[in-house]
Amino acid sequence: MKKRRYYGTINAKIVFIIVMVIIFALQLIGANFITQTERQLVASFQENQQLQANFLENSIFPYLEMHEHSEMTPDDVDPKQEIDTLISDFSGTAITGISVVDAEFVVLGNSDDTQQIMVGQLLNDEDVRTAILQGTSISRQTYNPTVNARRWRTVEPVYDSDESQAVIGAIVIESNIETIYDQITDITLIFLRASLLAIVLSSLLAHMVSKALTEPIHEMQTKAKAIAEGDYSGEVKVYGDDELGLLAQNINRLSQEVESGQQRIEAERRRLDSVLSNMSEGVIATNRRGEIDIVNNMAARMLGSSSDLIIGENVLSLLNIDEEYNLRGLIDRNEDITIDFSTEESPSILRVSFSIIQSGAGFISGVVCVLRDVTEEERIEEERKQFVSNVSHELRTPLTSMRSYIEALIDGAWKDEELAPRFLDVAQSETDRMIRMIQDLLHLSRIDSGRSELNKELIDITALFTQVLNRFDMLLDSEDYRNNNYSIERALIDEAIFVDIDPDRMVQVLDNVMNNAIKYSPDGGTISARMIVTADEVKIMIKDEGIGIPEEDLGDIFKRFYRVDRARSRAMGGSGLGLAISREVVEQHGGKIWAESVERQGTTFNITLPYIPFEEEEWGWE
Ligand code: ADP
Repeated sequence: MKKRRYYGTINAKIVFIIVMVIIFALQLIGANFITQTERQLVASFQENQQLQANFLENSIFPYLEMHEHSEMTPDDVDPKQEIDTLISDFSGTAITGISVVDAEFVVLGNSDDTQQIMVGQLLNDEDVRTAILQGTSISRQTYNPTVNARRWRTVEPVYDSDESQAVIGAIVIESNIETIYDQITDITLIFLRASLLAIVLSSLLAHMVSKALTEPIHEMQTKAKAIAEGDYSGEVKVYGDDELGLLAQNINRLSQEVESGQQRIEAERRRLDSVLSNMSEGVIATNRRGEIDIVNNMAARMLGSSSDLIIGENVLSLLNIDEEYNLRGLIDRNEDITIDFSTEESPSILRVSFSIIQSGAGFISGVVCVLRDVTEEERIEEERKQFVSNVSHELRTPLTSMRSYIEALIDGAWKDEELAPRFLDVAQSETDRMIRMIQDLLHLSRIDSGRSELNKELIDITALFTQVLNRFDMLLDSEDYRNNNYSIERALIDEAIFVDIDPDRMVQVLDNVMNNAIKYSPDGGTISARMIVTADEVKIMIKDEGIGIPEEDLGDIFKRFYRVDRARSRAMGGSGLGLAISREVVEQHGGKIWAESVERQGTTFNITLPYIPFEEEEWGWE
């Protein structure tokens, strides 16, 4: 933390202000006090001087009068001498010199021994002249350069006692006023020392007071800083009920509020995180410029990347649509877009919807994209379309051929005894084929909608399979197959194997596979029927020596309407639905069906069914 300089603190400011106020107050008081004191001292000094002058005047007046009116002077009295003695003996306060002048400005006496030379001389002094001529007393401060000091000078005119009241002389008193100024200097010094002490003491006091004020502020400032940095521990000490105390209480409350607010936000964030990460949809949120700032795991997985790599990328370039769209356009479009992310290994089709994130003030602050994996939906939809087109096609073919035969009959063939029965025969077999196909379709539809329930019972599969094979033996013995060199070879199990199956459906499956084995073995051959039992399943294998199935078609032959050779299958009266139904039925039983084949050599169809061997006791219990 940057250390604050002391003079920048409130503490220093308070101390500075208090000290300044005290200095200012002291200045005012001091100036006023010293001026007043000086004025009083000077006034009382003047008064004192005036009193001394008056006293001297009273003492000197008889001799001055004698000097003025020499006829009144007794013989034994020398006025000058008397005056000289009087002023020499006069001891007044602060007096430095006294001189007496007669009405003609002649010095009659001087108290200063060194100035005796002046006695009998004319005194050329402005103040004396003015006092004598105008009859007014003069008091003023003068400066004596010889002693380098200020002097107070009082010139007191002396009046005659007769009616003329004429000025008969003047007394000049000079006194040392410096003592007064020395006193003032002393007082000023005392005042200054006291002021200095007061300033020092008041600074200390101010420091203590301001410390008491700023200490809690400092604590609160530290606490506020800690809150800003996310540390809510501890409380500010509350010193009292004053404003600072209330502020401290409020800071403590603020800390608690911020902490619980922060906890609420954190809990919300965690909740949102867990919602986002458990969503089956991918969610991407961007800032205003379309740069990704939030992405959930599902979105990252759908895009085959990791969240860390995606953050910060532009959403449009990530979705590979930056050339076709811009954000504004996508938001305005208000429609989902479907993006194909399929690779050679795996298909992946995503449907993306865009919506805007608005800030409280209504500004657009970003975009949210919700990604939905619609690969399966698209596949089902594609299959559905394919199925509808197949059904239409499969039905149209027999109908078209029937129509042409019927047209031929209408056109007159009905009269032809040889042609008419053949044409009607074809029409009948086409109708039969359509009925079979529609029955197969209805059966598949029932399976699809879950309405085809199995009537399961414990059936001896060995016996069931034997019955089917016996039936086919009989068929192959019939007229139609006599010329084809077919034989059925059996490798079944000698004992009864009981499995929980719907016998009618299972017979349908075995019939279908056996039929195909014959159908797709145009040159006849051996059809071997085998059966083996393991701990948990029964496996039936039907092998022919027919045309076989190309390897690339092996996975598709169980699809609806899939035929390796469409023309051949149709000529054989096949609908292309037999194996599709067989697979559904076997899977309904919890089993599996698949084919293995070598082209032109033959095909083996394998069927497994779950098998739980019965214990002897269970038989007994039954
Ligand atoms: P279909 O009515 O056309 O026989 P299936 O669903 O029973 O319809 O059979 C689908 C396709 O599988 C047949 O068209 C045929 O091409 C092929 N197939 C089925 N069984 C065999 C087999 N044993 N040998 C050769 N190809 C077969």
